[in-house]
Amino acid sequence: MNRDLLEFYRNAPLLDLGAEADRIRREMHPDGIVTYIVDRNINYTNVCVADCGFCAFYRRPQDGAGWTLSYEQIGAKIDEVKALGGVQILIQGGHNPYIPFDWYLDLLRYIKAHHPIHVHGFSPSEVDFWSTLYRMDARTVIRELVAAGLDSIPGAGGEILVQRVRDRVAKKKASAERWLEVMEIAHQEGLRTSCTMMYGIGERLEDRIEHLQRLRDLQARTGGFTAFICWPLQPENTPSMSAMPKTDAVEYLRTIALARIALDNIPNVQASWVTMGMKLGQIALHYGCNDFGSLMIEENVVSAANTTHRTTIGEIESLIRGAGFEPRRRRQNYELIEEAVAV
Ligand code: SF4
Repeated sequence: MNRDLLEFYRNAPLLDLGAEADRIRREMHPDGIVTYIVDRNINYTNVCVADCGFCAFYRRPQDGAGWTLSYEQIGAKIDEVKALGGVQILIQGGHNPYIPFDWYLDLLRYIKAHHPIHVHGFSPSEVDFWSTLYRMDARTVIRELVAAGLDSIPGAGGEILVQRVRDRVAKKKASAERWLEVMEIAHQEGLRTSCTMMYGIGERLEDRIEHLQRLRDLQARTGGFTAFICWPLQPENTPSMSAMPKTDAVEYLRTIALARIALDNIPNVQASWVTMGMKLGQIALHYGCNDFGSLMIEENVVSAANTTHRTTIGEIESLIRGAGFEPRRRRQNYELIEEAVAV
């Protein structure tokens, strides 16, 4: 399959790639609905020792600009998103060696007791970091987080799941094997997760296809991935990758279409309008995407690299309608929401 995909990506005209991805999208989602979610990304700390070359968000522990949010600050952010009709928080942070594991468990209990909402949180690389730091196996880390209130895990930190590439850009973070292993454990523990790809970090096309194949293989074993999201590196303002060539809109459309074709066992593919812009997000709905991602109330990591597009529910719905689909709000598990909200 890999060879065929590579040939197809290299040789097929853009419109042919899009047509094939659109055919698969129609087969999987014949109802003509495009979903989106209202949520908020809460970064609980910017202190991190992973030193990813593409990250403009983090601060080293010795840096005076490091911070960790209090429970009350996090609770206030949840109240704000709930007031706007939000149904989940995406909570993730740096690899902060000074936060004890109980802080995370108490945080989840605090959220569930005082600000109940779906908690989509803690990427596989955070789980792996804690597993090493607190000398617990990853399954125990996940079980304790779930017992305290974690509902699902985001696919962040996947970048390109080929070790040679990770060694260059995120050497200290969970390896490709480990990222997949933590995801497999999460699926075995009953969690549903998303998966991602960040491209344009110096990988070859073959590496992108291997990344997609590895996600596909894991999905074939567990069925635990609900959605795939991809976006390109935003080289501006990143400490050590600012010289990387910026990828363009055509490459995004080719890549998202390739992903829809390769990942025909993952039900949903999200358009990444936060990085690509609203119009390109709309076009992506005809290149395999059936979801418009989230009306994200806050997104620190991408905005630190200077690439944040903001929007409203009205704009999202009108773009989805303009592309010929029916817009519907959803929950994390893609269940549709009936009641109306205004943002
Ligand atoms: S991407 Fe995440 S893990 Fe990597 S340096 Fe930034 S905050 Fe740390």
